[in-house]
Amino acid sequence: MPHTASQIFKKWMEPDFKFFVNREGSIEERMKFLMQNNNMKGEYLGACLDYIRWGGQTTVMYELGTTGLIDFIQYWMRENKDNLIWADKAPSERFALPYIKHDKCPRNGEHKGLVRDLGGRIRCSHKSKKELKPSFVHSYTTFDEFSDMKITESFQSEPIAPSYDEDGSFPCDNKELEAYGKEMDKFYHEEPSFVVEDICYAILSDENSVLSLERILDRLNLELKYRTVYCGSRYAFGPCKRLNESDEQRNCPGHTEENKITVHTFDGWTLARYVQKWYEQVDNGQASVFEKTIQA
Ligand SMILES: [Zn+2]
Ligand SMILES: [Zn+2]
Repeated sequence: MPHTASQIFKKWMEPDFKFFVNREGSIEERMKFLMQNNNMKGEYLGACLDYIRWGGQTTVMYELGTTGLIDFIQYWMRENKDNLIWADKAPSERFALPYIKHDKCPRNGEHKGLVRDLGGRIRCSHKSKKELKPSFVHSYTTFDEFSDMKITESFQSEPIAPSYDEDGSFPCDNKELEAYGKEMDKFYHEEPSFVVEDICYAILSDENSVLSLERILDRLNLELKYRTVYCGSRYAFGPCKRLNESDEQRNCPGHTEENKITVHTFDGWTLARYVQKWYEQVDNGQASVFEKTIQA
């Protein structure tokens, strides 16, 4: 449940945290302060997380990114390994990790069949079959959000026709046209003997699986995990500083980076309860921290 602004502010103003007096510093200064001289030893994780966040009207924000947030939490865990005091109250019975729960296949509601994988997730086992012409098959690997796996997609593409130049002249010679004609002929006559069978594998439920800390934080985060940055400025195009000088493309094509900003609808105390839930999934805190991508 999202917390109201007043709930977020109430906690924000509570002076029971021993470093409350130092709140004037920037978020970065507060973070540096906590991550030195055993300053977090004996402190609630909830209090520490609340100390390094921004508070908005209805949301709170951290400037660490998921990876930085994990570093911070692990730092706290090392400091407090003998006595992990997550928050002032234990999570209630109904407090649950952000599991996936669907009644129907999220890719296609008509899909039939379920299968339980080794990790305890319930997946769609719908099978589909494609028959493609072998000489014209192309494939690429992509990340599939529904199944949370890297998958290989195969598709068929027609031969590409020679095209006109911008000025309307036809740049190719007869030989090229002839070759294209032959390819088209082959395309129309080839049997679709290349059979691709795909299983959907979309996740319907992962309630019986162990979620990694990274996965939990990502699901609770309202911001995009990655963003595209351009060299030099935020939006405008300009020379790229990361490409080789010999490279013809001088304009920055944009680079994908982890977004440093994560946003939640609850305060640091609630975030600490989620971290506690993550930790308690497996005895002795053996639940994995980072996600491993499955390859189908
Ligand atoms: Zn499906
Ligand atoms: Zn660049």
